[in-house]
Amino acid sequence: MGRIVLNGVRKAFGEVEVIPPLDLTIEDGEFVVFVGPSGCGKSTLLRLIAGLEDVTGGEISIDGRDATELPPAKRGLAMVFQSYALYPHMSVRKNIAFPMRMAGLPEGEQKRRIEAAAKALNLTDYLDRRPGQLSGGQRQRVAIGRAIVREPSAFLFDEPLSNLDAALRVGMRMEIGELHKSLATTMVYVTHDQVEAMTMADKIVVLRAGRIEQVGTPLELYRTPHNLFVAGFIGSPT
Ligand code: ADP
Ligand code: MG
Repeated sequence: MGRIVLNGVRKAFGEVEVIPPLDLTIEDGEFVVFVGPSGCGKSTLLRLIAGLEDVTGGEISIDGRDATELPPAKRGLAMVFQSYALYPHMSVRKNIAFPMRMAGLPEGEQKRRIEAAAKALNLTDYLDRRPGQLSGGQRQRVAIGRAIVREPSAFLFDEPLSNLDAALRVGMRMEIGELHKSLATTMVYVTHDQVEAMTMADKIVVLRAGRIEQVGTPLELYRTPHNLFVAGFIGSPT
C-alpha cells in the first residue's frame, strides 16, 4: 500500500498556472524526494496529493482508487509540516493521540500505538511534557509520531527539518531514513536542499517552475543529468 499516481494533474491559482499538467508515479514503499528552488511548486504538489488543495485538472489515484475528490482525512496519508503544527496546551501524549481521538479509535488501541511510536522516536520519557518544554528536534519527532499513529499508507513531509540547526538535521535525516526502513511505508519528502535529496531518496523528482525536469535515482541524476539546470542543482560535474 502507498502507490500514488498523478495523471495530468495541474494547478492554477486564478490566472496563474503553478503546476502545468504533470504525470508521476510513486511506487509502494518508495522514498521519493521533490527537490527544486523556492517557489517551484513543491509544497503545492504535496498539498494536491494530500488533498489540502483541489486540483484544477487531472486525476490522483492512491492504491488503485480514484482519490481526486476525496477529502484529506479519507486519503490514508499523513502530512508532517516544517512548523510542526503541535497544540501548545496539550501534552505530547495528547498531541500524538489527537488524530486517533478524532477517528474514534478505542482507548486501548490508542495507547498501544502511542507507546510504539514513542519508542520508535525516543519520546517515551517526554510523553507528559508540553511542546514548549521540548527541543526543536523533539518537537519534530512528536509531529512525526502524530503521523505514525495514523498508520498511513504514505507519509508526506514538507521541509520537515528546515527549522533545525545543521547538526540536528543530519541526525533527523538518519532517523527518518531508519523509520522508512522499519515501516517500509511510502514517503514523499519535499526539500530545497540537494544534500538531503541525494542522501535520502530512492527516487528524486527535480522540479522547476512546476514542471518535472527529471526523475531518477540520485546516481542517475548525478551521472546523467538531462540538462544544465539538473546538473547545476544536483552538483554534477559538467
Ligand atoms: P515551493 O514549495 O516549491 O517553495 P510553492 O508550492 O509554495 O513552492 O509555490 C509555488 C508557486 O505557487 C509560488 O509562485 C507561490 O507564490 C504560488 N502559490 C502557492 N500557494 C498559493 C496560493 N494559495 N495562492 C496563490 N499563489 C500561490
Ligand atoms: Mg514549500
